[in-house]
Amino acid sequence: MGSREAEQARRKLARRRETIARLYEATSAQRLAGGGREAGEKNEVEPVQTHLADEVLREILEIDRAIDRIDRGTWGLCERCGQRIGRSRLRALPETRRCLDCRENR
Ligand SMILES: [Zn+2]
Repeated sequence: MGSREAEQARRKLARRRETIARLYEATSAQRLAGGGREAGEKNEVEPVQTHLADEVLREILEIDRAIDRIDRGTWGLCERCGQRIGRSRLRALPETRRCLDCRENR
């Protein structure tokens, strides 16, 4: 994978990480603030927010791993079969660790 693609991916990942981190802070703050709300309302909302927070954390971790791979020069290689991951897949999903085949046959 060319270094230009890697640099573009790094910028894209960094931007998304920032957006997601903000979202995570917002949901965490809401969750803490939600403690004083009416019970009926809170019970419906909280599991969704907790789930969202987990998803967000997981994605931040994936982004960090991808940036780390870019630094080490292994970004764009499938962690399972070692083949290059398709360019369009990487563009759409720069943090992906597997090629399309390995993803499907997991
Ligand atoms: Zn693969």
